[in-house]
Amino acid sequence: MAETVLDIQNLAYRWRGPASFALTVPTFKVSKGETVLLLGESGSGKSTLLSLICGTILPDQGCVSIAGTDITTLSARARDKFRGEQIGVIFQQFNLLPFGSVADNIALPLRFAPARRSRVPDPMAQAAELCTALGLPEGVTKAKAAALSVGQQQRVAVARALIGQPPMIIADEPTSALDANSQTAFLELLFAQTQTYQTSLLMVSHDPRLGDRFDRVIRLDDIADVQRAAA
Ligand code: ADP
Ligand code: MG
Repeated sequence: MAETVLDIQNLAYRWRGPASFALTVPTFKVSKGETVLLLGESGSGKSTLLSLICGTILPDQGCVSIAGTDITTLSARARDKFRGEQIGVIFQQFNLLPFGSVADNIALPLRFAPARRSRVPDPMAQAAELCTALGLPEGVTKAKAAALSVGQQQRVAVARALIGQPPMIIADEPTSALDANSQTAFLELLFAQTQTYQTSLLMVSHDPRLGDRFDRVIRLDDIADVQRAAA
């Protein structure tokens, strides 16, 4: 049996407020090196689940274990550090620092994650290398993130998730702002990294055509129950 990297048990979470969206996940596991595509309609709760896995929101019930640590038991600060070490995150809204340079944005996760930092002897050189691999123009590393196009910003967000080879990559619709060529370049790089470093990948999309490349394709309904307040 392959080692389990992500292990969710009896998870329950409810967004408060008028929409009152509630999500439960009885059990969900991802193995070391496994690539999983999670499909679902818009508004079905995919981003909510990824936020629970990253520990940016805490469940009302249940455990979320990553590499054997139940992140729901950690303090907010310890969770931030843990996320930095263990997870490369590509958010739907990229979350770049607009006034930071591209290189600073890419190297950011290393700042709070000493183990991940130790795998990158020269962060600026590594940032430039990742930019080239993702088809960004030469010299882009010194530009301010805000000066880039949306598609370019998305590639910077990708480079930031890949740097320092975190054991798990969580990606929320990472290809949505990319044209077909950049989409292919991005997926090639992502899958090269997961293969070389036995990185687990959990990627969310509403595009089932991406499914061929993944070890496992699931729909959110397969693993989760969702309840909404009656309108
Ligand atoms: P998806 O990523 O599949 O499009 P989300 O997880 O973003 O779905 O959203 C699922 C539902 O959760 C939304 O329809 C909304 O009701 C609720 N929701 C999401 N984010 C928030 C939030 N920040 N505050 C309150 N409710 C939210
Ligand atoms: Mg979403």
